[in-house]
This record gives sequence, structure tokens and C-alpha cells, in this order.
Amino acid sequence: METIKTNVLIIGSGPAGYTAALYTSRANLNPVLYEGHQPGGQLTITTEVENFPGYPEGTTGTQLMDDIRRQAIRFGADVRSGIITSVDFSKRPFKAITDSGDEIEAQSVIISTGASAKFLGLPDEQKYMGLGVSACATCDGFFYRGKRVAVVGGGDTACEEALYLSNIASDVFMIVRKDHLRASKVMQQRVLDKPNIRVLFNTNTAGLYGEEFLEGAHLVENKGTDLEQHNDVALDGFFLAIGHKPNTDIFKGQIDLDEQGYIITDGHSTATNVEGVFAAGDVADPHYRQAITAAGSGCRAALDVERFLAL
Ligand code: NDP
Repeated sequence: METIKTNVLIIGSGPAGYTAALYTSRANLNPVLYEGHQPGGQLTITTEVENFPGYPEGTTGTQLMDDIRRQAIRFGADVRSGIITSVDFSKRPFKAITDSGDEIEAQSVIISTGASAKFLGLPDEQKYMGLGVSACATCDGFFYRGKRVAVVGGGDTACEEALYLSNIASDVFMIVRKDHLRASKVMQQRVLDKPNIRVLFNTNTAGLYGEEFLEGAHLVENKGTDLEQHNDVALDGFFLAIGHKPNTDIFKGQIDLDEQGYIITDGHSTATNVEGVFAAGDVADPHYRQAITAAGSGCRAALDVERFLAL
């Protein structure tokens, strides 16, 4: 069991965390960063990233995260694998415990734990998890070559997942609860142009079925109207892409969260209600949720920490 003392503890490793590590290490603050459950964050389970400035030909999420990580390490950031399991923000130095039992004493903290995929809440989702149900097309799409799959959701993530799967699976159904897609126009057009993607508007999922593995979904069209219709669709894969939940469980009771669990920051900075604790990236951003905005807020958190420690 080790006790690690640091000026800055960074919790989480997406674009926000790595950028905060890059800036605080260049400011000689010797940050310690814990990468958490999913090193590199959500971008490592995405496909192409075409909208991060500086990559005119696009790049992959994994490559982008590896680039920023290496950039931070080059300036001395101490990037560690491991999970922070609890924190104590009641007094400084702040305390945190890792999954291997180490204790960290930190003069300041940047929380960049991101957000995780949401599920519909159907009991069958857990039953068929790994047996047909997934929340990551790039992780699991490979298993559905030439098969029939569905993607639930109508946002950019759902479109991206459907497009990815359309190059592997024979048929892709998009299950969209409204009569329109929420995704950006360019993504909508790409989906509508794909001959093997069929968008099922005004459709909800009532349940899943199958013996051992998933074999299909019970769908309800125009729910609650005179036109309500129940259909079963045969499927081998069912992919969730309905948004995200902020990863803030360990901070409950320690800092202020909004009703959805996002960390509340002071409008003009990344400061939380606890002096010396800052938040960056998707964990504090229900609105923009882009790699570039997360990276930008990681930079802002690092500058806020620098000023705080200089006081
Ligand atoms: P969004 O919140 O944008 O979309 C969620 C989708 O899931 C909506 O269509 C929503 O429907 C639907 N949904 C939510 N809950 C349910 C439910 N219980 N049952 C059925 N459908 C449901 O999330 P995304 O993850 O798609 O995107 C998050 C952010 O990240 C956005 O700002 C997006 O633009 C961005 N993004 C950008 C990408 C890029 O630029 N390359 C790639 C991926 C994401 P409804 O519309 O009815 O609410």
C-alpha cells in the first residue's frame, strides 16, 4: 500500500483528463492521473473522428487518445492504470483511495470521469448482454458479419453505430422513438443514403426474445395512438445508442451535482462548489459533449488549478 502525494490528482482519462495532464505537467505541477475503467474514455470505442482540428484526413478515437496521452507523458505526467474507488473532499489535502488500496493526498483535483452509455431499462437487456445486446458497435460489430442488427436511438451516436454496422451486417434497423432523427444533418443524410439501413420512426422497444441468444425484439409502433401496432423483428444483435449517464457515483455527497448527476461548475470556470476541486469534460457537460470541447475544458481546468495553487 502506497501513499502518493501530488499537487494535482486527475481522475479519468478522456480528452479532458489527458489535456489537463498535458497542461499541468507543462506547468511543472507533476500531476498524477488515474485512467479508470476505460483508458482513453469513450473515444476509444468510437470509429473515425473527423472533426477534431488538426487531422485533415480524420483519425481514429484510439489514435487521438494515444496521441494526447503520449504528449502529456512527454512533459512528465504520471499516468497510472487504476480506478479511484472513493474520495474525501472534506478538507485539504484531499484524499482518494485506489482499487489497489493506495491512498492519494492531493492539493487539488480535476474530475474528468466522463459519462457511460445508457440502457433502456428492460430486464431482457441484462439477460442478453453479450449474447446479442451491446452498447458498442465498434467493440462487438465484428460478431455480426452478414447478420441482422438493430440500433436504438436517433442521435449522432446511433447514426455512427448504424453506419459502422452497415458495412458488416446484412440489415441494420434504426429504432427511433420520434418521427425524426436528432443527429446532425450530415449524419442523417449518410444514414438515409445507405441501402441496408432502415429507419423505423415512432417505434419503441417493448422487449427482447430468444432461447439462449437474442433472436429478436418486440416493437411498438405509434405507441398510445389509434395507429398503435405491435411487431416482432428478427435480430441477431441489438445495440443501444440512447445517450449517456455521467460517471459521478463516487462524488455523491461530496460535491454538488445536478438532477441528472452532472457536476455543477461555476459558469465562468471549471470550479465546483468545493474549493480546489475542478471538473472538466462530459462529466460536467450535458450540452456539447464533443472531444474538442472536452479537451478545451481540460485545458481550462488545468489553468484554474494553476491559479488556485498559486494563491
Ligand atoms: P443524444 O442525446 O444526442 O441522442 C440520444 C438519442 O437516443 C435520441 O434520439 C433520443 O431520442 C434517444 N433516446 C434517449 N432515450 C431513449 C429511450 N429511453 N428510448 C428510445 N430512445 C431514446 O446522444 P448521442 O449519444 O447520440 O450524442 C451525444 C452528443 O455527442 C451529441 O451532442 C452529439 O452530437 C455528440 N456526438 C457527436 C459525434 C460526432 O460529431 N462525430 C458522434 C457521436 C456523438 P429523442 O430524440 O426522442 O430524445
